Amino acid sequence: MEYDYDLYVLGAGSGGVRASRMAASYGARVAVAESTYLGGTCVNVGCVPKKLFVYGSHFHEDFEDANAYGWQVEASGFDWPTLRDNKTAEIQRLNGIYGSLLSNAGVDLHEGRATLVDEHTVSINGHQHTAKYILVATGSWPTVPEFPGNEHVITSNEAFYMPQLPKRAVVVGGGYIAVEFAGIFAGLGVETIQLYRGPLFLRGFDDSVREFVKDEIVKKGVDLRFNINVERIELDGDIRVVHLTDGSTLNADVVLYATGRHPNTADLGLENAGVQLGERQQILVDEYYQTNVPNIYAIGDVTDRIQLTPVAIEEGMCIANNLFTERPKRTLNYDNIATAVFCQPNIGTVGLTEVAAVELHGGDLDIYESSFKPMKHTLSGRDERTYMKMIVRRSDDVVVGIHMVGPDGGEIIQGMAVAMVAGATKAQFDATVGIHPTAAEELVTLREKSREA
Ligand code: FAD
Ligand code: NDP
Repeated sequence: MEYDYDLYVLGAGSGGVRASRMAASYGARVAVAESTYLGGTCVNVGCVPKKLFVYGSHFHEDFEDANAYGWQVEASGFDWPTLRDNKTAEIQRLNGIYGSLLSNAGVDLHEGRATLVDEHTVSINGHQHTAKYILVATGSWPTVPEFPGNEHVITSNEAFYMPQLPKRAVVVGGGYIAVEFAGIFAGLGVETIQLYRGPLFLRGFDDSVREFVKDEIVKKGVDLRFNINVERIELDGDIRVVHLTDGSTLNADVVLYATGRHPNTADLGLENAGVQLGERQQILVDEYYQTNVPNIYAIGDVTDRIQLTPVAIEEGMCIANNLFTERPKRTLNYDNIATAVFCQPNIGTVGLTEVAAVELHGGDLDIYESSFKPMKHTLSGRDERTYMKMIVRRSDDVVVGIHMVGPDGGEIIQGMAVAMVAGATKAQFDATVGIHPTAAEELVTLREKSREA
C-alpha cells in the first residue's frame, strides 16, 4: 500500500524535530505535527528559558563580589518584565529557527493537535494522513497533586510568564525544577521557601552531593524545609495562604509546584492503534523504541525514562538511523549519561552514585573527595564552597562515578563524561596534567582517598 508519508511524527519537540530532520535527510517523506510550540518543552518552557533565568538571577552576587575586585558597583534595581520579555523574544527567535530547520530539511509541518485513527493513520485539523511508520514524541506535562486549593498554584509553565515578580514564593518539590526555581527566585530577590516532603531533597543524586548542596542553597537565602508538605491552600485576596502538614501556615504571592511530570498520552487515540501503556501512562517501548505495534515508535519524555533533552535527541537520531538507513541498528547506552542541575552553585554528575556503586561493587571501591573555597571567593569573601567526589572500582581502577557541586559544574562534568564513556581509569586521570588555576584540575589531582567502600 502507498502511504502519504514514510514517517509521521507527533510532536516537534527535542526528539521529534531531530527524528524528522534526520529521517528527511536520509530521503524519507516526513511530516511532523505540533500542537503548541516549535521546539517543545526545552526551547519554550524548559532548559533554554530556565538557563537564561539562572544567568539573570546570578548577577546580584556578581555585583556584590565585584567590589572586592575594585569595582564600585551596586545594582540599582531589578526589572522583571525586561528579563521575562527578552527571554520570550529569544524563544521566539528559536521558534523561527526550528521552523526553518524543518522546512529546509523538506519536512512538512502540520500545526495542530494530532491523534491516531489507526496504526497507519493520523488525524489533524480535520484531515487524515497515512504513514508507514508513526513516531510519538509528545513529551510530558507538569503534575500537580490533588489537594484542596490546588487551583491556586502555578507550575514551571506559568513561572516563565509571570505578570509580576512575587515578593514571597513557596516552591514545592525536591527535584530538578524545584531547586532550580528556588535558586532563580532567591537570586532575583524573592523571599523563597522550598518545601520537600522527605528528609533530604534530590532523591537519586549522590548523598554527599545532596547534603553539600543543601548547605549551599541555604547560604543563598532559600528557606529550605524538609519533612513537610502542603495540606491545602486558601486565597485571602491575592495572597495564597498555604496550610502545612505541621499545622503552620505561610503566606505567599506565588506557590510553584514542581512535583514531577507525566507523559502526554491522554486523548492521543493510542487505543485506536492498540498501543500499550505502562502504569504511569507512559508508552512502553523496547530497546529500539518500538511499541507493541510494530510500525509505531516512541521516544523522549513520553516514554518516561530519562527526561532530558539530549536523551530525546539521541533517541530521535537512533530512530532515523534504524528506520531509514542500511547502517547497523543503534540504541542509546543509558549508562554514564551526564546531567547537571542548574541550582546555584550547579550540581554536575555522571555515573554511579556511591550508594549505587556499593550495591554493585561494594568492598571494591575507593572514594576520593575534595572540598574547597573557589578561588574567586578568596577575594570576594563569599561563603561558597565547591565539592567533588570520584568513585573508583579498585580491582580494575576504572572510574565509575564523578559528582560535583560548584560553579560551572555542568561544563566541567561534560568533559569528565567523555573520559568515563571511554572507560578511563584513575591512573589515566592522574596522568592527565591539570589546567591551573581551575576548579576542574582538582579532578586530576585527587591523591589521597577519603575512604574505602
Ligand atoms: P518535548 O520537547 O516536550 O516535545 C513534545 C512536543 O509535542 C511539544 O512541543 C508538544 O506541544 C507536542 N505535542 C504534544 N501532544 C501533541 C499532539 N497530540 N499533537 C501534536 N503535538 C503534540 N532537560 C535537559 O536536558 N536540561 C535542562 O536543563 C532541562 N531543563 C528543564 C527545565 C524545565 C522547567 C523543564 C520542564 C524541563 C527541562 N528539561 C531539561 C527536560 C527537557 O525539556 C525534556 O526532557 C525534553 O524537552 C523532552 O523532549 P521530548 O521531545 O520528549 O518532548
Ligand atoms: P522530579 O521527578 O525531578 O522531582 C519531583 C519532586 O517532587 C521530587 O522531589 C518528589 O519527591 C516531589 N513530589 C512528587 N510528588 C509529590 C507530591 N504529591 N507532593 C509533594 N512532593 C512531591 O521532577 P521535576 O518536576 O523537578 O522535573 C521533571 C524532570 O524534568 C526531571 O526529572 C528532569 O529529568 C527534567 N529536568 C531536567 C533539568 C536539567 O537537566 N537540569 C531541569 C529541570 C527538569 P520524592 O523524591 O519524594 O518522590
